Amino acid sequence: MSNFVANDSTAQTEKFNNWHSLSRDEIFQKLKSRPTGLTEEEAAARLIQSGPNNLRPQKHESLWEKLLEEIREPMILLLLGTGILYSVWGELSDALTIFAVIFTLIGLEIYNERRAEKAIAALGKLAEPTAPVLRNGHYQEIKIEAIGPGDVILLQAGRRVPADARLIESFSLALEEAALTGEALPVEKEATAILPETTSLAERSNLVFAGSSVSRGRGRAIVYATGGATELARIAALARGVRPPRTPLQIAMRELTRLLVGVALGFSVLVPLLGWLVGGQPLQQMILVGLSLAFATIPEEMPILITLVLALGGYRLSRRRAIVKRLRAVESLGAITVIATDKTGTLTQNRMQVSQIYPESQQAALLEVGVLCNEAIQQNQDYVGDALEVALLRAALAAGLNPEALRQKYSLVEEFSFDNQRKRMSSVYAWADGRLWVVAKGAPEAILPLCALPETEREAKLAKAAEMAGQGWRILALASAVKPAQSKLSQEVAEQNLNFIGLVAFSDPPRSEAAPAIAACRSAGIRPIMITGDHPLTARKIAAEVGLDVSQAIITGPELDKLSEEALSQTVQRVSIFARTTPEHKLRIVQALSAQGERVAVTGDGINDAPALAAADVGVAMGQSGTDVAREAADIVLADDNFATLVAAVAEGRVLFANLKKAVRYYLACKVALIGVMLLPTLLGVPVPFAPIQIILLELFMDLAASATFIAEPAEKNLMNRPPHDPKIPFMDKFMISSIFMSAAGLLAAVAGAYLITWYNSGNLAQAQTVAFVTWLLGHVLLALNMRSEQENLFRLGLFSNKLMLIWGGAAVLFLLVATFLPFAQSALKTTNLSLNEWLLSVAAALLGTFWLEVRKLLLY
Ligand code: ADP
Ligand code: MG
Repeated sequence: MSNFVANDSTAQTEKFNNWHSLSRDEIFQKLKSRPTGLTEEEAAARLIQSGPNNLRPQKHESLWEKLLEEIREPMILLLLGTGILYSVWGELSDALTIFAVIFTLIGLEIYNERRAEKAIAALGKLAEPTAPVLRNGHYQEIKIEAIGPGDVILLQAGRRVPADARLIESFSLALEEAALTGEALPVEKEATAILPETTSLAERSNLVFAGSSVSRGRGRAIVYATGGATELARIAALARGVRPPRTPLQIAMRELTRLLVGVALGFSVLVPLLGWLVGGQPLQQMILVGLSLAFATIPEEMPILITLVLALGGYRLSRRRAIVKRLRAVESLGAITVIATDKTGTLTQNRMQVSQIYPESQQAALLEVGVLCNEAIQQNQDYVGDALEVALLRAALAAGLNPEALRQKYSLVEEFSFDNQRKRMSSVYAWADGRLWVVAKGAPEAILPLCALPETEREAKLAKAAEMAGQGWRILALASAVKPAQSKLSQEVAEQNLNFIGLVAFSDPPRSEAAPAIAACRSAGIRPIMITGDHPLTARKIAAEVGLDVSQAIITGPELDKLSEEALSQTVQRVSIFARTTPEHKLRIVQALSAQGERVAVTGDGINDAPALAAADVGVAMGQSGTDVAREAADIVLADDNFATLVAAVAEGRVLFANLKKAVRYYLACKVALIGVMLLPTLLGVPVPFAPIQIILLELFMDLAASATFIAEPAEKNLMNRPPHDPKIPFMDKFMISSIFMSAAGLLAAVAGAYLITWYNSGNLAQAQTVAFVTWLLGHVLLALNMRSEQENLFRLGLFSNKLMLIWGGAAVLFLLVATFLPFAQSALKTTNLSLNEWLLSVAAALLGTFWLEVRKLLLY
């Protein structure tokens, strides 16, 4: 189904596999397409036939499968077992209640998991790549899913090949096909080749394959296979449902959970054993107590909680234009200590404008070369591509040149694309008489050494460039050369002996959000540094404008090369601005910072930025100006390329991490308190304070609080005024452990106190248990409110700032009223009417047991 069939006699064309041995005309014929591409209608019709161009078809679990899977969970099995024992030993109504709780819990788990899955799937959608496709003679960025056979695609340096395609045009094109062949070096491609049918796959140099990326050059190709029909899809290594690897926190949490399961099980055996042996309580009852206690204290929710928080957090970040590609990033963000940022487009607006041309007499020649040595494309009456190249085209248009006509006037034969290593690019055109015309542009330092100029002249031009850069402008040098007719020109020969034409300066003012974002970094204990390929003086000017530290010298790439490892590690701690760097320098800087124990977020957009992005704790790619290659290597993609968005994402990362800590703290405090409440009376030879059925219900509320309400907690006011947390300190640090036990102690004292008082006074178990039940429900709501912040008191936080928690608290109180006042609920939940005094006792105990924690906050912070 997936292989496109151009004519209707399917059988013989279905397996057609010799696209490499057809000429271009035959290809167009066979695929019923043309050099200007398909029309929208044709494309839509074909997409229906070929199916979406999905390289990784997703499998969807049905609700029923999900349900079965959930029922097989140990916790649910435990609960089911309890329910069955209840039905056998006790009343049917108890069993029914238990089953009702089981279904609620399963529902809750499925809901939570779905939420996480949906968020992750939505993230995947947001990060979905697009590709430039020629439709009806116009370029359009199209989701790769919507590309079908017959579509003409554009190949540009740094872009991913979206489908298997036959080249119809190529200029110095080379592709990286490692995903298919394992070969790391770029493979040369040539559109004009027509190859024998027997040519092996790796040698089909006129074909490009989905999953590879363009290393250099430019080309056009016509798609012949998409989705499951591509070579990539055939490679078994492309496993089906790839699960994202676990994050460090997820791993740590699993380990912790495993440990705590042991503890919980221990107590779940100890309590009933003591009750039976010491307290002389009925064995059957104690077995049920043990089972429900195990159910309520085993912290099985914790790993799910982490996934949920990360996934929802990732989703929330994406709505703020920071698209999370790897969940790991969500938890690393909050811990970042250094942000190493690009200048162009991230701190600046990337809305470039030609602001000066030097020498003015050369304007026409400069703009002509600027148009011809240019990869930006026309799209909907405007230009898209590199901002600087777009600015050149616009300037040419404004000066009365017609860029499109100019581009059609000469025929392009080679193109040596720009990358931030070379910092230049050149294009070669053939004149009518066969001579070749090389046009080149790039950083003055990258172009001038190639120009035939006396040394003093060169120095003078560089000085002029520096003077212009001092204005904060981005500087380009342009040059050209005419070469005798020859069949193929290597990059080296093409870029030799150029004639210098002049300089063009582009203004690119800082974004207005950049300066406040830099200031926010500082107060959050994060050091912002700039790593740019631009001129040091351009860098300094922009740095000063956005408030980066310019008190230290600026280090350039060539200077960095001369530093020893040791000197480098000192330099990176001190210097905040690095200019004229290549992606390799960026990588070295990131590595040196990491070696010093810094946790680095680094931004990148170029083809060669992938290693630095991968080496950083959080690799950040640009959504608009970035290459596909950089975007794939990144953990996060900034949809708006904006530095301020990155800082906002860091803030969000801190909130998430803080909330996760709060949720876990509360969750575990409740479990510890519950164990204590059950253990203490047992040690005194008093019956256990909760009936099994009650324990199970309490657990439901605890789970809800942890998995929903704490996650909704807004940022604390001083969140971005404190230093980043250190991930080397374990998640459960001393502070957290002591807070868990303190909070648990308060709740324990309240519930056990109220229970024992009632028991010793009345000797009525139902009454005492009801008091315990009421005190617990009230107390654990108050405790949740208290635990919203470690340091800030509830009124400063704003009593109403977490609505979800208020709703949950309200529901718990409502439930408690129903459970104690309505006869049917009383019989189901083993509660009874309370006297006014008992009510007062419960409320007072709950308040006292939690209120002191607020007082403590007031005294300490
Ligand atoms: P940045 O860190 O500012 O993105 P780059 O490495 O992209 O720096 O660019 C460095 C220099 O290369 C620029 O100052 C400019 O002179 C030159 N340059 C940038 N883009 C192009 C391009 N498309 N073609 C030729 N030269 C370019
Ligand atoms: Mg750049």
